[in-house]
Amino acid sequence: MARWAYVNGRYLPHRQAAVHVEDRGFQFADGVYEVVTILDGRFADLEGHMERLGRSLRELRMDWPAAPRVVEMIARELVRRNGLHNGSLYVQITRGVASRDFKFPAGAKPTLVMTAKRVTAFAKPEHLENGVSVVTVPDIRWGRRDIKTVGLLAPVLAKQQAAESGAYEAWLIDSDGTVTEGSSSNAWIVTGEGVLVTRPPSTKILNGITRLSLLRLAAERGIPVEERPFTVEEAVNAQEAFVSSAGTFALPVTRIDGRPVGNGKPGPITRTLRQAYLDYVAGMTA
Ligand code: PMP
Repeated sequence: MARWAYVNGRYLPHRQAAVHVEDRGFQFADGVYEVVTILDGRFADLEGHMERLGRSLRELRMDWPAAPRVVEMIARELVRRNGLHNGSLYVQITRGVASRDFKFPAGAKPTLVMTAKRVTAFAKPEHLENGVSVVTVPDIRWGRRDIKTVGLLAPVLAKQQAAESGAYEAWLIDSDGTVTEGSSSNAWIVTGEGVLVTRPPSTKILNGITRLSLLRLAAERGIPVEERPFTVEEAVNAQEAFVSSAGTFALPVTRIDGRPVGNGKPGPITRTLRQAYLDYVAGMTA
């Protein structure tokens, strides 16, 4: 099936989809984005992703390119045109095209781009069975990680370092030695006492939409939760660790810098929360 993209009012063959060289997203990373998973024909947490997109735009004093419900309609149409039952939708909004000047341009129209791709498996069977490994790297990102901007150079370098070390993800370490989050995921542990721990939202992390749903699903299941920072040492000594994101849901982490987490195997809380999230998206639970 042909692949379609959306650029500023037009659905185009993916290969022909392009923005202007003076788009501020291209020149200044002056743009925001969202990635939304399509799972068995349903958008996962679309409302949360749209809300966060609005928040990112507000924080950067950027305008919606169209009313949020229109953006949502375009998203649904793009998924339909691509014939996606399982996949990933990418939405990017930039401050628009203008002669290169750092200051906000007067009268530029925001750029809206959407692409969608098929996903055949959201997790490799061996990742679910054995868990994934992470490496730790210093968190060198800017001070507003709560805004989902397309300025992703630090995470790009971190993920590349992880890949070159044979790891799945990089955990980013704050100057005080605590884990902020993954390069493209939130970080979680389950302590020896069975308490689910993840860092509270602040400007130091992106408040994951999957994170928020998992917190709610955990509370509904009576799993005790603490939102607080944790160190790498605490994570290695935890019973379980996992990452969450729109594409991974909850994925077990069983090695940190080559050291096993707990007994080195994926744990029951991670498994329960992953299934709870899948059931929630399928409409089987609240
Ligand atoms: N933190 C960072 C830095 C991310 O890039 C992502 C992925 N967007 C997440 C957390 C997870 O967020 P979400 O659950 O909304 O995908």
